[in-house]
Amino acid sequence: MLIGVPKEIKNHEYRVGMVPASVRELVAHGHSVVVEHNAGIGIGFTDADYEAAGAKILATADEVFAKAEMIVKVKEPQAVERARLREGQILFTYLHLAPDLPQTEDLIKSKATCIAYETVTSNSGGLPLLAPMSEVAGRMSIQAGATALQKANGGRGMLLGGVPGVEPAKVVIIGGGVVGANAAMMAVGMGAETIVLDRNVDVLRRLITQFGTSIQTVFSSQDAIERHVLEADLVIGGVLIPGAAAPKLVTADMVKRMKPGAAIVDVAIDQGGCFETAKATTHADPTYIVDDVVHYCVANMPGAVPRTSTFALNNATLPFIIELANKGAKKALADNVHLRAGLNVHQGKVTYKPVAEGFGMEY
Ligand code: NAD
Repeated sequence: MLIGVPKEIKNHEYRVGMVPASVRELVAHGHSVVVEHNAGIGIGFTDADYEAAGAKILATADEVFAKAEMIVKVKEPQAVERARLREGQILFTYLHLAPDLPQTEDLIKSKATCIAYETVTSNSGGLPLLAPMSEVAGRMSIQAGATALQKANGGRGMLLGGVPGVEPAKVVIIGGGVVGANAAMMAVGMGAETIVLDRNVDVLRRLITQFGTSIQTVFSSQDAIERHVLEADLVIGGVLIPGAAAPKLVTADMVKRMKPGAAIVDVAIDQGGCFETAKATTHADPTYIVDDVVHYCVANMPGAVPRTSTFALNNATLPFIIELANKGAKKALADNVHLRAGLNVHQGKVTYKPVAEGFGMEY
């Protein structure tokens, strides 16, 4: 199969659909890969790196889309990219169609086979192509929180781990899933007192198995949240109720009563946030202060570390890319129920129930 990797064109998107090592894997399987000029330059991959891996460099996105049987990207296709798709072509990328009618209509019109990273499933019941970004955001949340706690940024002027003779900061993590577990790993690593709240006791059991007594786990009730948030130096919000907006677990009144200079990192802001005082911010201006509490609420945290994020995403997508290339879309989708769960639009029809229902479309 001929696989195409265009340069991402969404504002400040530096990730790329395939790293050179993945190109090499596909070439080893007997496939051809075309890559747009400078597609990976934002994260340190030159055209020469891709050529060394066996790719052919094409000057424009138009040529990549025109030649390729399968397009591998990161972000949802922008209008100009959608116009280039054609019948029978495979598109493998994040789509997030539910809130995006214009994109859905264009993909229907294209008659392409559009497989969304975010709805591909796994045997363990998770979303394997979303999890790597939660790992990145969870780990980053402690880095962001540690910076927010510095005096010059409006914080309490505390080091997470303290020093010998000085007690560490208290980090409270609400939600012990992928984001929460990765945040806990970094908080423990930096020597903070670490407390994780979740309302699923199995999640808390798993965390204790993983971290032993270096963390405390607490069942998440309103009472427990209030008690721990008021004592915290740093609070991380990493809750998720699948398919719904994040619950506002920390009220504006609780924030008002937090320690002056404490910090919060609302990772769940991409689902509306779990702090009543949270509003989405950007990497250019990531924090603001409400009632003396520093808020970090960046909705696309992995965008700050696109090199790490690209490798993490590509590790998860590569087996599916290889399966699609080896078997073709029809057989790969028939054989692999998890890949089929990713199929959102096919031959002019929406094939993902929640999206079809959301737009009142035929399914
Ligand atoms: P996950 O499903 O792995 O974990 C969510 C956890 O929240 C679950 O363990 C669940 O039991 C728990 N939970 C639900 N309600 C709760 C409550 N009332 N109290 C305590 N815990 C509760 O999800 P995840 O992959 O860790 O993602 C968490 C959030 O982070 C999602 O909203 C996701 O979209 C977001 N996210 C944001 C970014 C970003 O850049 N800002 C990046 C990746 C993920």
